[in-house]
Amino acid sequence: MKIVIASGKGGTGKTTIATNLACSIAQMGKEVQYLDCDVEEPNGHIFLKPDIRETHNATISVPEVDTELCDGCGKCGQLCQYSAIICLKDIPLVFEQLCHSCGGCVLVCPTGAITETQKPIGFVESGNADSVKFVQGRLNIGDVRSPALIKKVKEKAANDGIVIIDAPPGTSCPVIEAVKGADFCLLVTEPTPFGLNDLKLAVGMVRELKLSFAVVINRSDLGDDGVQRYCDEENIEVILEIPDDRRIAEAYSTGNMIIDVLPEYRNDFLRLYENISKRNVSHKV
Ligand code: SF4
Ligand code: SF4
Repeated sequence: MKIVIASGKGGTGKTTIATNLACSIAQMGKEVQYLDCDVEEPNGHIFLKPDIRETHNATISVPEVDTELCDGCGKCGQLCQYSAIICLKDIPLVFEQLCHSCGGCVLVCPTGAITETQKPIGFVESGNADSVKFVQGRLNIGDVRSPALIKKVKEKAANDGIVIIDAPPGTSCPVIEAVKGADFCLLVTEPTPFGLNDLKLAVGMVRELKLSFAVVINRSDLGDDGVQRYCDEENIEVILEIPDDRRIAEAYSTGNMIIDVLPEYRNDFLRLYENISKRNVSHKV
């Protein structure tokens, strides 16, 4: 069962929910794995404090042109949908950061001038945080190919047990990559006009992907009732509300888990998991 934790905007408490949910499930004695797919700024490790045992370089294939073999036909540039290879005055130029590694230009080149070469984009690290299996991606600074790295992090997803996927914020390509294929999506938001605006975008995304989902309202007693009214109107379940508790902010700012410092919240996370778990079973039935 793969549960993805996403949010239309950053700073809503997505990682707080993801890490506390993972640890709560582990404390029930269940197999759980946490995947940090927020590869531009992974921060789950701050709270889970994993013992990293393996680090792998993540690379992707990009085209390389042998100008001796190229006859300047331009077919590679005509094919590429991402303008990652273009022909200027019959000379092909490759823009690696735009390349999606589809391999199409290699196939279409009539002279065999294009080959693929591997380029590093970051690292995939794995280990353990007590009984939680931990995997995170770290994108190289300045690189923009986070979807490719997210895909590599997700390739490490366990086949058994529960997988918690901490998605990047927003609704763009990296988020789609993190969210797709999940069994259930939790959308974390806050009760503010910004939170509502970005929640609407996130709801549009998960509906487009036909994902089962529910909403978590963080700092629920702060702000206005716009998010709640929107959820009521759209028949979206608010599955958990976490109050604006200064002690939670203090735990966060010192890299501590809510359920460790404030055990009274542990049952909230357990109920959250049980609620999702039942729903997933009923969907599969
Ligand atoms: S591999 Fe695909 S995306 Fe990359 S340059 Fe070639 S055609 Fe474009
Ligand atoms: S398709 Fe091959 S031969 Fe034609 S311009 Fe591109 S690299 Fe050169």
